[in-house]
Amino acid sequence: MKITEKLQKAEKEGRTFWSFEFFPPRTAQGLQNLYDRIERMRNLGPEFIDITWGAGGKNADLTNSLVQVCQETIGIETCMHLCCTEMPKEKVEWALQQAKAHGCQNILALRGDPVAGTSTWKPTPGGFMNAVDLVRHIHKYYPGDFCVAVAGFPQGHPETPEGHDAQEQEMKWLKEKVDTGAEFIFTQMFYDTDIFFDWVKRVRAAGITVPIVPGIMPIQNWEKFEKWVQRENIVVPDHFYEALRPVKGDDEKVRQVGTKLVAGMCKTILANKEAGIKGLHIYTLNLEKGARMLLQELGFEGRREQIAPLPWRPSLTPHRRAESIRPIFWANRVQSYLSRTDDWDEFPNGRWGDSRSPAYGDLDGYPVSININATDAYNLWGHPSTFTEVCDLFARFCRGDLAKLPWSSQPPASETSVIDEQLAKMNELGYLSINSQPAVDGVRSDDKVHGWGPAGGYVYQKAYLEFFVSPELLSPLIRRIERDPRITYYAVNKQGDLRTNTHSEGPNAVTWGVFPGKEIVQPTIVEAVSFIAWKDEAFELGLQWANLYPEASPSRKLITDIMNTSYLVNIVANDFRDGMSIFEPFLLDQQQQQQALSSVGKVGQVLGDGIQTVVDGVKNAVVGNSNVVNGHTAQAHAEEDVKLTNGVVINGNGH
Ligand SMILES: Cc1cc2nc3c(=O)[nH]c(=O)nc-3n(C[C@H](O)[C@H](O)[C@H](O)COP(=O)(O)OP(=O)(O)OC[C@H]3O[C@@H](n4cnc5c(N)ncnc54)[C@H](O)[C@@H]3O)c2cc1C
Repeated sequence: MKITEKLQKAEKEGRTFWSFEFFPPRTAQGLQNLYDRIERMRNLGPEFIDITWGAGGKNADLTNSLVQVCQETIGIETCMHLCCTEMPKEKVEWALQQAKAHGCQNILALRGDPVAGTSTWKPTPGGFMNAVDLVRHIHKYYPGDFCVAVAGFPQGHPETPEGHDAQEQEMKWLKEKVDTGAEFIFTQMFYDTDIFFDWVKRVRAAGITVPIVPGIMPIQNWEKFEKWVQRENIVVPDHFYEALRPVKGDDEKVRQVGTKLVAGMCKTILANKEAGIKGLHIYTLNLEKGARMLLQELGFEGRREQIAPLPWRPSLTPHRRAESIRPIFWANRVQSYLSRTDDWDEFPNGRWGDSRSPAYGDLDGYPVSININATDAYNLWGHPSTFTEVCDLFARFCRGDLAKLPWSSQPPASETSVIDEQLAKMNELGYLSINSQPAVDGVRSDDKVHGWGPAGGYVYQKAYLEFFVSPELLSPLIRRIERDPRITYYAVNKQGDLRTNTHSEGPNAVTWGVFPGKEIVQPTIVEAVSFIAWKDEAFELGLQWANLYPEASPSRKLITDIMNTSYLVNIVANDFRDGMSIFEPFLLDQQQQQQALSSVGKVGQVLGDGIQTVVDGVKNAVVGNSNVVNGHTAQAHAEEDVKLTNGVVINGNGH
């Protein structure tokens, strides 16, 4: 979506917007960290983000690929900076075409800084002279494709000489950029609001009417603050220094004091009716805390609708924008799902049509990787040599004591707390869980934990569990599952032997929402064809983990054996008003279960206690939490029976 449309929408809805700026990091590790950070910071509710262009065309490839990942995988509207420094027209063309292909609809057109190590800006032969030339080029050759922004300098551009006439001339150049087609202005950072308001007055007096978005630099620590202020020659009001100098040796205090100062400045800006500023552009310097603290101090929170338009991150590349359904299996492996379905010419947009026609890419075409080297794997997962140790690893992950597993590169989401303990216990019993979601029965769509989609709606989920299990445990488990006709399952081993109690190959909606004036939206499903495609990847990830250990090592043998013999199972508790029914098959016939387990994993002695703890834990979860997240009251939850009550939300989302 174009930023101008977003700004208009925010204004119509009477809310302030904010955006974040990031720059391409220097190292591969830094890049990965930045992706994770942008994903997290998405939850702070920026209307859009932007990615700077490496000075002198440096890191141009990186800017483009950052834009691609942000649009495609993270699903956040991204504005790409584009400069003229060291950019012959062909390179500009390449950058614009790449941006367009990734669905980027917003460009900040800049002249750019001088090449590193030089102080005077020089045009590149065959390139552009000023930002205005780039604006003109974009409008001529990409009409309607991009919303173009330009830079404005409240304190005056550093190259502009002193004096009224020179300032007037600079304003004329700014007007020329807007008249050529720029649709809004991002400003250079500043700390003096009087200077800013005076500049806004002059901008408006010059006949420039497009929105102005002030650039705000949070104060993260004294050294960075000083560095930027000096580098950009920024005027700092006395009261900033008076408050900051006494604490300059203490980073935490500088951040606290700085946050209050900058928030005060933002409030002044937004309160000035004459200036008419509707939002803020935050220079994050790729740091999270400063931006987070500033927004908190301002009392700004992201809207649910914006942060979670669907229960999964919709991709913003052109051919996927209409995608509205995904199988649940790749919930923790978005990039892999996007890659393996990249060739689909059409995405299901409303109903999961014939899922057989667009084949999932096979694993050879889209190599699957657990993305970890042996040393890091040993540090994280040690050298398990017994099945019990493997179970313990999975259990620790569920409890939040382990950062990742081969199937999940992120720790369980914070909203999993209600069910974490139950999942952990299940793992200790030999069911190695890799994905789960709680039942949700009519929670408001703006609910902070479970909500998604437009405001004013209600969302629903069926409880879902996915895990590896030995054949010895599987058979009795299936017998117990089949006693409850409300539960459906698929179990498949590496060789593809499939067991199921479903009678249809069609999709089973496991997440859906009811919104004002819309059809029912059912964005997440379970179905056979995609499960079979997913199982190859799931077993492959396990084998890659095994192969990180030396060839004859007990760890390699153990994990390989588990992968070669286990079944991958998914279970859906279709009665979404009885969310806890999903746990019942794990708790029944305990004696039988104990015997099977001791033959597999020698979990032995503790099993009886473990199972009882699961039962107790489940009871506690029901009693303790159902009121919070459920559309129903919890009065029946104190029942002694493990037969659990209406619509309890047990949470395991995103695990
Ligand atoms: C919000 C923001 C983001 C930025 N992002 C980046 C980035 O990602 N990468 C990067 O390298 N740099 C970035 N910069 C720095 C920026 O590129 C430099 O400050 C640059 O010197 C000015 O760029 P501009 O787009 O304003 O250039 P211009 O508008 O071309 O102005 C540059 C100078 O030329 C003058 N001028 C303008 N038009 C004309 C004309 N038609 N004829 C003659 N003179 C003219 C202006 O008065 C000014 O002195 C950013 C700056 C800002 C404010």
